[in-house]
Amino acid sequence: MNDRTQNGVSVRLENVAFSYGEARFVFDAEFRAGAITAVMGASGSGKSTLLNLVAGFESPQAGRVRIGGEDVTALPASMRPVSMVFQENNLFAHLSVEANVGLGRSPSLRLAAQDRERVEAALARTGLAGKGKRLPRELSGGERQRVALARVLVRERPVLLLDEPFASLGPALRDDMLDLVARLQAERCMTVLFVTHQPDDARRIADHVVFIEGGKVAASGAAAGFFADDGPDVFRRYAGTNGRESRHVARKPT
Ligand code: ADP
Ligand code: MG
Repeated sequence: MNDRTQNGVSVRLENVAFSYGEARFVFDAEFRAGAITAVMGASGSGKSTLLNLVAGFESPQAGRVRIGGEDVTALPASMRPVSMVFQENNLFAHLSVEANVGLGRSPSLRLAAQDRERVEAALARTGLAGKGKRLPRELSGGERQRVALARVLVRERPVLLLDEPFASLGPALRDDMLDLVARLQAERCMTVLFVTHQPDDARRIADHVVFIEGGKVAASGAAAGFFADDGPDVFRRYAGTNGRESRHVARKPT
């Protein structure tokens, strides 16, 4: 595991078929080991579904999910080498910050001295030193997402799935959080799948972009080419409308 963590692990979906009633998905995609890939696409295109299939919260009707070359299609979510952070509700409201992070080491919160040290270190690393005894409601929205990232650190899983984790934060704070993700990713060589509506977010930290449309990968490639004037047509159409709209919304004072 240590070796694999240092080199990163790839994530591969091989013709993964899934449906929610009428909504059908077929994902064929490779996410580069030790890189950040932005997963973009209109609302309802299937971005969260793709992440849920990688995490094991949903099971495909056909196809394989591979992580680091290993077939994990039949593995339950708890056994997969994956952590996930959502837009909100990542924390248990009745547990302290340090307990919420400690859950990443032991679901029963039986923490040895070494585990407590890891929790402290993760809180310091995410800018939360001294806030371990607080309850989630005593934190700002940005701090709560830092707690979720601290838990990711103590879990030490090589794949990190981020489902619009900073969408409700203002732009300056969002940039701080993105930079924190980029630093943590580089230190751990994690393979990150990062769902975002904001082309600016992807431009800031992503190496690659996968663009989803209608339950399929419609385009993918290096971030630099994607955002260039001669980038993929499907993405230019999206960025020309949704991109500007969402950027406008994000800059409104809240
Ligand atoms: P995105 O994250 O890109 O906005 P989702 O993956 O959440 O999109 O959803 C894709 C499609 O699947 C949407 O049409 C949505 O309504 C449908 N869907 C998502 N989750 C469920 C669910 N639990 N039950 C039924 N339909 C769902
Ligand atoms: Mg979603």
